[in-house]
Amino acid sequence: MIINVVGGGLAGSEASYQLLKRGYSVRLYEMRGVKNTPCHDTDGLAELVCSNSLKSMEKSTASGALKMELELLDCMVLRCCYEAKVPAGGALAVNRVLMSEAVLRELSKFDNFELIREEYVDIDSSIPTIIASGPLTSDDLAVSINNLIGNGKDLHFYDAVAPIIAGDSLDMDKVFEAVRYDKGEPGDYLNCGMDREQYQAFYEALISGERANLHDFEKGEIFESCMPIEVMAERGAETIRYGMMKPVGITNPKTGERYNAVVQLRKENVEGSAYNLVGFQTNLTFPEQRRIFAFIPGLENAEFLRYGVIHRNTFLNSPKILTSTYCLKTNPNIFFAGQITGVEGYVESIMSGLISAINLHQQIIGANEFVPPVTTICGALQRHISRENVNFQPMNSNFGILPELDERIRDKKLRKTAYSLRAEADMKAYIEKNLI
Ligand SMILES: Cc1cc2nc3c(=O)[nH]c(=O)nc-3n(C[C@H](O)[C@H](O)[C@H](O)COP(=O)(O)OP(=O)(O)OC[C@H]3O[C@@H](n4cnc5c(N)ncnc54)[C@H](O)[C@@H]3O)c2cc1C
Repeated sequence: MIINVVGGGLAGSEASYQLLKRGYSVRLYEMRGVKNTPCHDTDGLAELVCSNSLKSMEKSTASGALKMELELLDCMVLRCCYEAKVPAGGALAVNRVLMSEAVLRELSKFDNFELIREEYVDIDSSIPTIIASGPLTSDDLAVSINNLIGNGKDLHFYDAVAPIIAGDSLDMDKVFEAVRYDKGEPGDYLNCGMDREQYQAFYEALISGERANLHDFEKGEIFESCMPIEVMAERGAETIRYGMMKPVGITNPKTGERYNAVVQLRKENVEGSAYNLVGFQTNLTFPEQRRIFAFIPGLENAEFLRYGVIHRNTFLNSPKILTSTYCLKTNPNIFFAGQITGVEGYVESIMSGLISAINLHQQIIGANEFVPPVTTICGALQRHISRENVNFQPMNSNFGILPELDERIRDKKLRKTAYSLRAEADMKAYIEKNLI
């Protein structure tokens, strides 16, 4: 049986391998070579567009735990990364050229692999297809995807993401539960109140903070649709105090205090293990986010599960249109994979290519869906992209998306190791039972 894979990036390359090894013929469409994206430099498969680091290999980190899960699932792209590894302490950094060559070599071992250098535009839904065209999906394909999914509102072109903070890193002596004008459940929001001096210090740091570089193609357009907090702050010292930091209607129930400015934190999950800084989409560099947001009372020791970013990113409103198997709800022949599904990061994209391909195979042979438990990073990200969420934003691997541990472990490092060990045990058990 022939399967089309669109996009020879990280997800598409991994998806192709998983299908080839299960006996399918794969036509992998990659436009680079005939048409470039604004960011790629080569026509090589699985090119890393920016950093050559795939983050930590330590099992006690979420990224390390995800790598461990992928190893259990025979991930080809990760194997090629290890082969092209360069020294980088505990991180997996690679020689990107060698890594890309290794991926092509692995795929070319299969006689039934065909690499087609062309811009794929018209989606042929009579053929099982995995669309893995990435954050820089070509414009014409984006139009076709929009036509396929319907209303033109469920494909986004920019990320404007506020930081997400680990719930257990908040200083709960300073942070308080309250909703504006008491409308809603008090636990829906946590709040950090600031007096005039605290606000002033935060404001000065914010407007002078170092910002991440945008690519030329991102400048201009991007700020029209999503204004970063630091840019809004430049309009005047009071602007954000009347915007995302407005204090009106919020009183601290513990002390009766009212504030000059308030930062609100919204739960990212029902467990309350992760919180979003409401309205704080930002283009500050990651170290500056750590430094400047530590001015907010209660966030002095905040652990960032995900930093705020503003950048070009084509991604679907996945909870509305995809199942947890990465399959289009309205067409069982069409799967998506990679960054376009709302996972964020190199390894996460590789992972979704792998899981998407396994699920396409399981569907073809009439086997169970492959949805590992939410205690694994793979399963938790599958839940993230498919669980109803009106504020859906892309997500990377982090322990905040996993359910809490049965026992409370105070030591941070031990706690993270426990998350990882649980993920490993649960993935092994799941594979044993479910993978054919
Ligand atoms: C500028 C930028 C920098 C990033 N930096 C990092 C980073 O440092 N670390 C990190 O973890 N993540 C980073 N990411 C996020 C993400 O991890 C990468 O974009 C990752 O490559 C996504 O994998 P993917 O397979 O989904 O897409 P890609 O790897 O981009 O692969 C998609 C492929 O589809 C092809 N394609 C697109 N349209 C068509 C079409 N119509 N027909 C045929 N082929 C098509 C593209 O040429 C591309 O090869 C970055 C993203 C961007 C945009």
